[in-house]
Amino acid sequence: MQVLVVEDEQRMADLLRQGLEEEGHSVVLAADGRDGLAMAESHPFDAIVLDVMLPGLDGFSVVRKLRAARNQTPILMLTARDATPDIVQGLNVGADDYVVKPFAFAVLLARLRAVSRRGPIPEPVPLQVANLTLNPASREVMRGRRRIGLTRTEYSLLELLMKRAGRVVPREHLIESVWGFDAEVRSNTLDAFIRLLRDKVDTVGEAKLIQTVRGVGYCLRES
Ligand code: CA
Repeated sequence: MQVLVVEDEQRMADLLRQGLEEEGHSVVLAADGRDGLAMAESHPFDAIVLDVMLPGLDGFSVVRKLRAARNQTPILMLTARDATPDIVQGLNVGADDYVVKPFAFAVLLARLRAVSRRGPIPEPVPLQVANLTLNPASREVMRGRRRIGLTRTEYSLLELLMKRAGRVVPREHLIESVWGFDAEVRSNTLDAFIRLLRDKVDTVGEAKLIQTVRGVGYCLRES
């Protein structure tokens, strides 16, 4: 992961950098709140470790400004004072978790891993191909004004095909993405689900959007 560490105490900053680098992460340091905010805004980090007490701009303000700008990078706050109001304030303004100084490095790593696993919450972008729309936020699928009810698997397949609309998605890729690498899914299972999906998406009288590319995979496009 690429981690931004915003910490003004040199010793603590060095300790964090060294420890995180030993774990295989790459670290960028900022020594005050304004620099930290500017860096977080200009580069997509995987996670931010953010001290509360900072010169320039305090940690709470940094979080508030990032979240107001819809930056959803996971943030772990470092607080020197084990004061409940501090912690509550940090979480209220949009931090993901906190660690109280002094802390064991293993604890910081575990918390950081947990918040970054949750990952940034992406702004869902509705997908559209011809008059077929899929809204990832509501999981609503529409063909024109007709609402389409899909099972989880059908939805996953359609979402993937729509994300790559116009391109052929190989069979193996569809299987791995929808059922996972470990799943033992036979090729004809994929075909069966595509058939179900087709029955719902491409009904009689409508242009066929789900195309079979023999021996390769499937493609969603206007014919
Ligand atoms: Ca500090």
